[in-house]
Amino acid sequence: MNTPNQNLPQVVIFGRTNVGKSTIFNCLTEKQQAIVSDIAGTTRDANAGVAEWRGRRFELIDTGGIINLDNFLGTAGKREQTDMIQKKIEEQARLHLERAALILFVVDAKDGILPVDRQLANLLKKILNDHTERILLVTNKVDNYRRQKDQVVEFHKLALGEPISMSAATGSGTGDLLDLIVERLPAETASEEPEVEEIKAVIIGKPNVGKSSLLNSLLGEERVIVSPIAHTTREPQDTLLIYKDKTIRLIDTAGISRKGRQVGYKKKHDGQLEKVGIEKSLKSLEKADIALLVLDINDEITHQDAKIVEEIIERQKSLIIIGNKWDLIETKDVKKHTREIFSHLPFAQWAPVLFLSAKTGAKTKHVLETIITVAEQRRKEISASVLNTFLMKLVKLHRPTRGKGTVNPRIRRFEQCGVNPPVFEVRIGAKENLDKSYTHFIANRLREKFGFSGTPIRVWITKGRKIHGRQEHGRGETDIMDEEI
Ligand code: GDP
Repeated sequence: MNTPNQNLPQVVIFGRTNVGKSTIFNCLTEKQQAIVSDIAGTTRDANAGVAEWRGRRFELIDTGGIINLDNFLGTAGKREQTDMIQKKIEEQARLHLERAALILFVVDAKDGILPVDRQLANLLKKILNDHTERILLVTNKVDNYRRQKDQVVEFHKLALGEPISMSAATGSGTGDLLDLIVERLPAETASEEPEVEEIKAVIIGKPNVGKSSLLNSLLGEERVIVSPIAHTTREPQDTLLIYKDKTIRLIDTAGISRKGRQVGYKKKHDGQLEKVGIEKSLKSLEKADIALLVLDINDEITHQDAKIVEEIIERQKSLIIIGNKWDLIETKDVKKHTREIFSHLPFAQWAPVLFLSAKTGAKTKHVLETIITVAEQRRKEISASVLNTFLMKLVKLHRPTRGKGTVNPRIRRFEQCGVNPPVFEVRIGAKENLDKSYTHFIANRLREKFGFSGTPIRVWITKGRKIHGRQEHGRGETDIMDEEI
């Protein structure tokens, strides 16, 4: 079993055999917005993964592969059986259950409550010292809620709160469950964030555009303190700068400054080197929040630049475009050059563009200022009341556009549900469809009104009503569509 990731809250899937634990695990991790990755630094394990939903990360653990109660069922007497199950759980899953921020206790709606469900529920309560608020009772295999309503109601007898219905086989209810999980997770603790809040940026761009010159120029800035830690920490390839009391971590700068050798090499194996370079940059991009894309303003913007920008946006990173070698430009027409850049990169119009000369150092100070501004914009939160007023004006300006179907969509809720980068949720009726173009319209108006400079914004459409803090169940109502800008 994996060494648990100490920093992330753990969500543990628990229940007897055959209730569908691993299908639920797959469902929760495969849902579009739930990004699953192996836990860094540990061996790969099919039963654990890191999931992310609405900007909240947690570790999901399926105890299905850890405890196997098959051998104990239906064999010995009840008392003996309970003892054996208890022993097995003690040995294998207790640690997980004790550590869990949340336990999904899974039951099977088709089978109803079996004695072993009761036994497990009682053991669970004992292990948690009756802190049942850490348990979410999940009734799986609810393929038709209306028909199976009575079966679901029966599970109230377990006294583990309101059962949440889902069908892991069809995937229905997955979005609701994920919503509920992130709602019920304890508030984010400081330990989930780096100790000192750092701004993580990466310098990226084709060979010879001036990346290392830019790095040197930034390091040479008068007010910058280059932290000596940079060369002694576990990540010697990074450079830490302190500017205006902010810590900026420039990711993988060692690769950039070592490039002198590569230039010579580049001449012989151009294509190959370039490919390796870009792949490496994309890896570094993963670790950063902000990408500084360096362009040589005297050169054409190529397909490769556009590709890098696509990768940046796809990963939801912020973007600052640097038009370098500005000193070589005769007529310094900022507007004309900005237009030129965006004609090649039309999908990144929200990115600030800085024209500068890394060689002479002209205007490089703006780079650090812009990094700080963009980092703030990325974490900006708009209050619900301000968003409500914004929405009222918005729908007056342009009524929500219908997608498929005949029902006119009505926006019932509009909320910001995440930062870094900002994520917004538009909730419409279960049977309504909102045209995709409307989410672009919302995103553009959000930028006009609130800025969000340099930062991608996500606008999701969610369908159905929320009842008692969770989405209503029923056929077709659990379908969550995610729109990305
Ligand atoms: P990298 O491969 O992207 O790291 O590019 P370098 O920083 O090594 O720069 C490539 C070449 O462009 C070097 O000869 C630099 O001196 C030159 N260079 C970099 N920035 C500027 C600039 O702002 N103006 C001018 N004129 N030359 C520059």
